[in-house]
Amino acid sequence: MPMLDKVLIANRGEIALRVLRACKELDIKTVAVHSQADRELKHVRLADESVCIGPASSLESYLNVPAIISAAEITNSNAIHPGYGFLAENADFADQVEKSGFVFVGPTADTIRLMGDKVSAIDAMKKAGVPTVPGSDGALTDDHERTLEIARRIGFPVIVKAAAGGGGRGMRVVHNEAALVNSIQVTQSEAAAAFGSDVVYLEKFLQKPRHVEIQVIADGQGNAVHLGDRDCSLQRRHQKVLEEAPAPGIPDDLRQQVAEACVNACIDIGYRGAGTFEFLYEDGGFYFIEMNTRIQVEHPVTEMITNIDIVKEQLRIASGMPLSFTQEQIKIHGHSFECRINAEDPQNFLPCPGKVNTFHAPGGLGVRVDSHLYDGYTVPPFYDSLIAKIITFGESREVALARMRQALDELVIEGIRTNTPLHRDLVRDKAFQAGGVSIHYLESKLED
Ligand code: ADP
Repeated sequence: MPMLDKVLIANRGEIALRVLRACKELDIKTVAVHSQADRELKHVRLADESVCIGPASSLESYLNVPAIISAAEITNSNAIHPGYGFLAENADFADQVEKSGFVFVGPTADTIRLMGDKVSAIDAMKKAGVPTVPGSDGALTDDHERTLEIARRIGFPVIVKAAAGGGGRGMRVVHNEAALVNSIQVTQSEAAAAFGSDVVYLEKFLQKPRHVEIQVIADGQGNAVHLGDRDCSLQRRHQKVLEEAPAPGIPDDLRQQVAEACVNACIDIGYRGAGTFEFLYEDGGFYFIEMNTRIQVEHPVTEMITNIDIVKEQLRIASGMPLSFTQEQIKIHGHSFECRINAEDPQNFLPCPGKVNTFHAPGGLGVRVDSHLYDGYTVPPFYDSLIAKIITFGESREVALARMRQALDELVIEGIRTNTPLHRDLVRDKAFQAGGVSIHYLESKLED
């Protein structure tokens, strides 16, 4: 089976560079597409070809489907890698890419659609034996009496969630019966405005869960494996800040059992490519909340503990090759952390774009830096503020964490403010060091 010849990278920043590096290693030619504000991006310089696809606004560039497809056509690309964010989970885009004769590096449009609708995703997971949050078993109807009965059965507090919701939006916690109907109506109208669908459902609201997720990879030819789990509980406004793999303090037989259920789910739905099953974990129970049908920001921590290059595997699968390893061949070893360095004020978290006068990356054994920064690069104000991922590996959690403390101390980014001070503080935080804090920990720490 021949490897893809040329891949268009429909993204920017660190993930575009990450994809480019994997392509180079596999001898695949690369096409960078970029906005007018992104001519200076590192991967644009390193790509074999580059095409400007529109003005700074993402809507007119990185979300501009006709411009991206035309760029693939004029450069004779075979495939499009969407990275994460932007069009990565847009089923219509995946459809158009394939209808235009290119390979979409990811699952089929139908799978993206199935998992993009949380009601159908939960349904598919239940059928596959993946544990889910106690809830309404499908969309809510106009029958308020029936809804009230469901909420009583689940037990308050409950959370109303939009089936089409994403990015932490389209959710509302309800603490008592009196507030239920109104909360449902408000969430419905917000969801209709934001996502074009007013379908909502109910779930038990878990009070102090952790965010634990399972990385899977499948070839769409009947083979699927898991690459273990990650803990991404340190979040602010539903945005992950610092991740680690494996998730600390979870009994091995439980981890194993849930990971195997995820693999079965992949086979059931004919999954193709890399994907992540996101769970809330509370009191020894896993509860599926959603699946991400793409590469994730935090994939490197899994790469560090498995020695598997997930992006290269995505490209192999997109070339039509079967998985290059079996579950038995995957050995999880050691521990890894990732700190997301953002161009933002460490106090008020406001974005802080501008010129980076000096960038000095940390190094040493077990330290990996995924970043598009270089001295003199100007971080534009138009996009996500992620500018670097500092990743460490160690044979134990303690060693990986000690390396992270040192790496953060070595990191120098001058000219713009970043959240590095927050990370330096977090890796010295006693509760975090002990492992297993809940998704509310960071926000409550920041309030103190
Ligand atoms: P999105 O697609 O917007 O990311 P998710 O379903 O993944 O939505 O939920 C986002 C976040 O909302 C979760 O990480 C968690 O913090 C919170 N959340 C979602 N469902 C529940 C629940 N049933 N109980 C407690 N918190 C929840």
